[in-house]
Amino acid sequence: MSILDCAIVGGGPAGLTAGLYTTRGGLENVVMFEKGMPGGQITNSSEIENYPGVVGEITGMDLMMPWPAQCSKFGLVHEMVNVTRVSKSGDVFTIHKEDGTTSDAHSVIIGTGSSPRRAGFSGEEEFFGKGVSTCATCDGFFYKGKDVAVIGGGDTALEEALYLSKICKKVYLVHRRDTFRSAPNTVERLKNSENIELVLNSVPDEVYGDNMGVTGLRVKNKEGETRNIEVPGVFTFVGNDVNNQTLIQEDGTFLCDMNEQGQVIVDISMKTSVPGLFATGDMRIAAPKQVVSAAGDGAVAALQAISYVDELLN
Ligand code: FAD
Ligand code: NAP
Repeated sequence: MSILDCAIVGGGPAGLTAGLYTTRGGLENVVMFEKGMPGGQITNSSEIENYPGVVGEITGMDLMMPWPAQCSKFGLVHEMVNVTRVSKSGDVFTIHKEDGTTSDAHSVIIGTGSSPRRAGFSGEEEFFGKGVSTCATCDGFFYKGKDVAVIGGGDTALEEALYLSKICKKVYLVHRRDTFRSAPNTVERLKNSENIELVLNSVPDEVYGDNMGVTGLRVKNKEGETRNIEVPGVFTFVGNDVNNQTLIQEDGTFLCDMNEQGQVIVDISMKTSVPGLFATGDMRIAAPKQVVSAAGDGAVAALQAISYVDELLN
């Protein structure tokens, strides 16, 4: 089997943009390995209002819908598979896949993004998928006309609380401090919402229920006082962990240099410490964690990959 000019691992905004720029920029043989439908984590968002040129309310799913078709027009191939490892021997990278097959490539652009973190309270795992969720767009409808709790104080928690407030009777927003990380206009909208109750300086202690699912959430405030909030749904938005597992080698070391948080160290050209390997989007150091910046990284990495492959083969 021939060696790919470029293997792209991950099909979020970073991977898809890398796919667009590599194929349109002249690389002939480019495959994007994405384990699910392309689009990335923004497809779980109910609303995005800061992608340049897109005015008005749009869901993440609608924003990402045209991206794969634009890429395939220029020749990008999508292989739907979970990549287990990326390794390098000499000048050749190998993509190891869950189905047992491998693909070789001259260059790799990785953009496997990040995944929702668990908050770590009692009952969270037991009731995950049975009342505890990390996706309001996916599960919010189950709580139409009912009360729910949202945990977190960042952009995601506040935006998703606002989204849920339009479907649900009441939303309890539980946050461990009394100030928020979120953008000021989002905080303003939250405070003006009539059916969102702020439960501040409080952490989730336990989610409880029965064999039908969640029936409530116990929270504890700074004074150690507890309060039971009777809700059938609890949404947690407490940050994300970088998906760096594919860079772990058989001996347990990473393929390239990483920082203490497990983010890939890159320079401003998205070059990693390994020639021909580029890292993009949420998984790289100092990522702004935005769709527009992930897409920008993908474009930068693609242009670098084109030059790298050109020099390697000519
Ligand atoms: P991701 O979008 O995480 O995509 C990574 C892709 O890699 C995924 O499709 C995944 O399936 C795939 N993948 C992972 N591991 C493997 C593997 N081993 N094999 C194959 N495929 C793999 N940003 C904004 O700019 N504006 C917003 O309003 C906004 N709202 C948000 C709301 C929510 C609820 C969330 C969760 C995020 C939001 N963000 C927003 C942030 C934005 O979604 C991310 O910054 C952006 O998606 C990062 O893109 P990425 O391509 O780096 O990674
Ligand atoms: P985040 O900014 O890391 O916020 C996580 C929130 O959860 C924080 O408020 C944190 O509290 C709280 N938290 C963390 N661990 C907790 C625990 N164990 N128990 C209870 N609370 C806990 O995560 P995010 O909101 O998902 O955002 C991630 C990135 O994506 C950010 O850079 C964000 O700006 C970006 N994003 C942007 C948009 C947008 O542009 N509109 C939308 C969504 C996300 P503390 O505040 O006390 O630390």
